[in-house]
Amino acid sequence: MQDYKHADFLDSKNALELYDLDLFTLGKMADSLRQKYFGKKVFFNSNRHINPTNDCADICKFCGFSAHRKNPNAYTMDKEQVLKIARDSVKSGALELHIVGAHNPKLNLEWYLELFRELKAEFPQVHIKALTAAEVNFLSKISNKSHQEVLELMAQNGVDSMPGGGAEIFDEKVRAYICKGKVDSKDWLKIHGIWHSLGKKSNATMLFGHVESREHRIDHLLRLYHQQEKSGGFNAFIPLVYQKENNFLKVTEFPSGQEILKTIAIARILLPNILHIKAYWATLGLNLALVAQEFGADDIDGTIQREAIQSASGSKSAYGITKDTLVAEIKDAGFIPVERDSLYNEIQIY
Ligand code: SF4
Repeated sequence: MQDYKHADFLDSKNALELYDLDLFTLGKMADSLRQKYFGKKVFFNSNRHINPTNDCADICKFCGFSAHRKNPNAYTMDKEQVLKIARDSVKSGALELHIVGAHNPKLNLEWYLELFRELKAEFPQVHIKALTAAEVNFLSKISNKSHQEVLELMAQNGVDSMPGGGAEIFDEKVRAYICKGKVDSKDWLKIHGIWHSLGKKSNATMLFGHVESREHRIDHLLRLYHQQEKSGGFNAFIPLVYQKENNFLKVTEFPSGQEILKTIAIARILLPNILHIKAYWATLGLNLALVAQEFGADDIDGTIQREAIQSASGSKSAYGITKDTLVAEIKDAGFIPVERDSLYNEIQIY
């Protein structure tokens, strides 16, 4: 298998057979690509997640973050609250503000644009990564503006890049079951394509480990591969493992560590055109995220500081992690910690 050609895997049946390989063969294939690009470097950044509201007009079955009967504590921040969090975060070292939240009609497009303008005016050096394609789609609907117009306004008002959320699983049937009403797969990809055409970067995610099959994951990865061939602006792919608490998706079987590592390794093999594969510690746990660095991943995400979305469904990311701990853990795992900025420029090698 070391002599494979990537083109062979554009056939989904061939790609699916990668799952039949034993974990170590697959790991070796993925690791040789990872080593070729990055050696032993593991990237992370100093970031802060801000989730301005959990009051949502949509009802995704897998979501433990939005306010509903299992999570009755609805909240909506005002701009001053967001600005205060941003000030505190920048003071404690955040170089990136990652701003995503629920689909709340009270926080309309103008509210966000004003927020971005104020953040940029106060912290011109800080990277603003904001609004998933699902939020862009929602804001486009409630503001009667096209995706293109919303994205142009975001860029003009200070958004530097877009996060990869809202992709979930592209397969239409699974999507209709787990997140009916949310942006559809075509529009998710189209929105990122438009954003890339504005000269901007974004990330891409896949939520897996719930009701989807391996076929659905392969389909998702190949759709991303083709989009990247067209628009070229994805910086990183982030496979997110489904978190099981406080939601309405009835899942009885969860993926084993082996299945998770295989999925990460396959992502590395199928996505040669998306340079970075992130093992997001907030959904994997730090230990598995470190092991994943031997199975194709090269990034572990960042300090986060605070996080409300994954932690609402059971992950241990509510209070983030310190930079010192992250650096020490990466070193202990035998890798070289590299602090990066949001666009993967290296800031410091530890
Ligand atoms: S995943 Fe996002 S859109 Fe769906 S219910 Fe949760 S907050 Fe709303």
